[in-house]
Amino acid sequence: MQKPIRPLATRPPKPVSRPVKIAFATGGLVLSAATLGLVLYEVSGGFKPSRSAPTSSSLPLSPSHFTPVQVVSSQKSDSIGQHKLIKLKLAKELTPPSNALTSVFSVYLKDSDIQVERAYTPLKGLDENGEMLFWVKRYENGEVGRWFHRQKVGEHVEIRGPVRTLDWEDGKWDEVVLISGGTGITPFYQLLHNVFTRRGNQQPSSDEVALPRDTHFTLMHASRSVETLPPPAILDDLRRWARDSPDRLSLRLFVDPKEGNSGDSVGVCPGRIDAKTIQEVREERKLVKQPTWLEWLRGTATGPDRNKRVLFVVCGPEPMITDISGSRLGRPANDGAVGGVLGTMGYRAQEVRKL
Ligand SMILES: Cc1cc2nc3c(=O)[nH]c(=O)nc-3n(C[C@H](O)[C@H](O)[C@H](O)COP(=O)(O)OP(=O)(O)OC[C@H]3O[C@@H](n4cnc5c(N)ncnc54)[C@H](O)[C@@H]3O)c2cc1C
Repeated sequence: MQKPIRPLATRPPKPVSRPVKIAFATGGLVLSAATLGLVLYEVSGGFKPSRSAPTSSSLPLSPSHFTPVQVVSSQKSDSIGQHKLIKLKLAKELTPPSNALTSVFSVYLKDSDIQVERAYTPLKGLDENGEMLFWVKRYENGEVGRWFHRQKVGEHVEIRGPVRTLDWEDGKWDEVVLISGGTGITPFYQLLHNVFTRRGNQQPSSDEVALPRDTHFTLMHASRSVETLPPPAILDDLRRWARDSPDRLSLRLFVDPKEGNSGDSVGVCPGRIDAKTIQEVREERKLVKQPTWLEWLRGTATGPDRNKRVLFVVCGPEPMITDISGSRLGRPANDGAVGGVLGTMGYRAQEVRKL
């Protein structure tokens, strides 16, 4: 019987009593029929994501069912065992249609021990060999991250997706400021990888670097320490793209000055992403409107220059999102209200995304 998936649960389910099991079994038949209908609905062209999804080894990867994939590598990316780079391989015949792979997407991974799923971001999308590389954090008392770290090379895990993380349209924005903390950098790396290499699944045959017209990206990323900065598999590319195309990408890395700072700290600033550092970027990129005489005299000209189309995207731990762009918790989904530093600076809902 299909066990229910608990996307946000952090504890194993309680044991189920016998009468409840019988009720579940009956319900399971109904559920299976409903799920089959859902799968057929999707195959026939419609789409409806499902949380308590079945497993299929024969249908293409899809949000509506789980697909077994093999762990092909699993390597520590720091010396304290907090992060790993894990590669999964999808059988070629299960590749989804290329138009399903939007430029920023994630997949849900199921912890099959306790039937909980969490989203993870394939850094380079799905490559032509069916491989997906993930940078995965293991939280001390977290459920799925710890479980994912324990899976051995050769074993199979189950994923469903792709699920769109961010709507992206080339040329829509003049300036995009990406602000991340910890593994929050993963969707931004995927976006920039797609933009700077154009080897995404949408154009698999092209090796040319074709940058989106007119868009400049600034990536501001914070990690707790130099040790837990993203690994070279992520940072080397970002540094190279920023060095080779400074008119297209600026990179600012921050580490908490209270943490140890051993290791490769080239180009890393001790400090936080806050009003001061965001203001520095706004001034550097000329995102602040020209002051009127009165504002100039008062020193109060901090509003956005709306002659430029600017997008801020924030992805990281909840307290960081709240500080920078206002809380998402306890609000209706996608209500878009902007608070925090960006709200104070005058940015509106259509200029800010919180992932
Ligand atoms: C679109 C998207 C993409 C993502 N991509 C990635 C990615 O590429 N890589 C990545 O590592 N993560 C990614 N994440 C985050 C990931 O989905 C998980 O949220 C993360 O791995 C934590 O899940 P977990 O089950 O390991 O920990 P959880 O069990 O959710 O615990 C998380 C934290 O809460 C604490 N906690 C747990 N239970 C309690 C409790 N009862 N009371 C108080 N505190 C508690 C834990 O100690 C831990 O610090 C992404 C998230 C989204 C939404």
